[in-house]
Amino acid sequence: MKILVINSGSSSLKYQLIDMDGEKVLAKGLCERIGIDGRLKHEDVNSEEVVIDAAMENHAVAFQMVIDKLTNPEKGVIKSTSEIGAVGHRYVNGGEKFSEIVLSNDDIVAQLEDSIEFAPLHNPAHITGIKACKEVMGDVPQCIVFDTAFHRTMPKYAYLYPLPYELYEKYAVRRYGFHGTSHKFVSQKAAEFLGKKPEDLKMITCHLGNGSSLCAVDGGKCVDTSMGFTPLAGFMMGTRCGDVDPSVVTYIMKKENLSPDEMADLMNKKSGALGVSGISSDFRDLDAAVEKGDEKAKLALDIFVYGVKKFIGSYAAAMGGLDCMVFTAGIGENNAMLRDRICEGLEFLGVSIDDEKNAKRGGNREISSDNSKVKVLVIPTNEELMIARETKELVENLK
Ligand code: AMP
Repeated sequence: MKILVINSGSSSLKYQLIDMDGEKVLAKGLCERIGIDGRLKHEDVNSEEVVIDAAMENHAVAFQMVIDKLTNPEKGVIKSTSEIGAVGHRYVNGGEKFSEIVLSNDDIVAQLEDSIEFAPLHNPAHITGIKACKEVMGDVPQCIVFDTAFHRTMPKYAYLYPLPYELYEKYAVRRYGFHGTSHKFVSQKAAEFLGKKPEDLKMITCHLGNGSSLCAVDGGKCVDTSMGFTPLAGFMMGTRCGDVDPSVVTYIMKKENLSPDEMADLMNKKSGALGVSGISSDFRDLDAAVEKGDEKAKLALDIFVYGVKKFIGSYAAAMGGLDCMVFTAGIGENNAMLRDRICEGLEFLGVSIDDEKNAKRGGNREISSDNSKVKVLVIPTNEELMIARETKELVENLK
């Protein structure tokens, strides 16, 4: 079966066509600047990467362009859309109502429209993508995979905020957690790599990218995660502040005369590594600045490392032990120095890094020393493949 995975943004549409026999990516690409002018970057197994500037007034036009590329009579990787068994859509947060993958239909889309407020920056774009896909693909099954789904096994004491209980009942304000598809993928891959059953492992998965989160995975199930009601929670990220004393929010709003939206913008887009360093949200830029002796860049990295370390300690305590730690995403997969700094001082938990192994690049790998009680791994994430796997499973179960 071939599965088309779609991740729609407000002006973008990312896609991958995966042949599930062998889990091979046949084509992938990105439509950008939808509704502005339009650009398609596409690569597939039959041809080199191409960049095409073409008007895309909406997501349906962009999606049609992708389909035309995939089914191109000369170089297309499929002959017609009938070869696509199903479409899997990434969806950030469907609120309390949606706790696992669903098959899309008009009723589901209407319910999703009611939950836009759970991720106002992402959800409207996802719905637009789902509708555009229906317009172009007709009855091909469309499945919706939620970033929050993997975290739905958290116990109530881990996800409930100690606010008046009726606010939870009225507004479903609670910890949801994000990057769930990534945490699920790497935790499963890690168990496979170690030749163990997920049920037998206490794991902490560290998704460290521009947005970052940690997840405590006990016996294959998420028991806690650092992001919360929104992806703003947790430790410091590229442009997000992570957890701060809630009183700071109202204090700054009053002092700077900021509206709720302006304050949200400040915490989401102008804080974190960017806000502290005043240089960049990209950790490569911070590393370069530290080399040149920049104190604020050093401070930003120190805050990041300290934040991750504190969550590792608290999750080891929450699970009552630790067998494995996994690093993934842009920073987790590529920044050996930060991996080393995060693990430094965790010897008391049984974590010991092998410098030589840690310096190596590429693929799934172990970076802990032979005598390390806790296995430390680097596992490149693959959210598209996880979405495709879940979509395939759901569609096959419908038969
Ligand atoms: P992501 O959001 O997963 O794309 O991760 C973005 C972050 O990963 C940025 O802070 C980058 O500095 C970092 N990153 C991405 N690629 C590399 C690399 N090759 N070496 C070091 N850091 C990287």
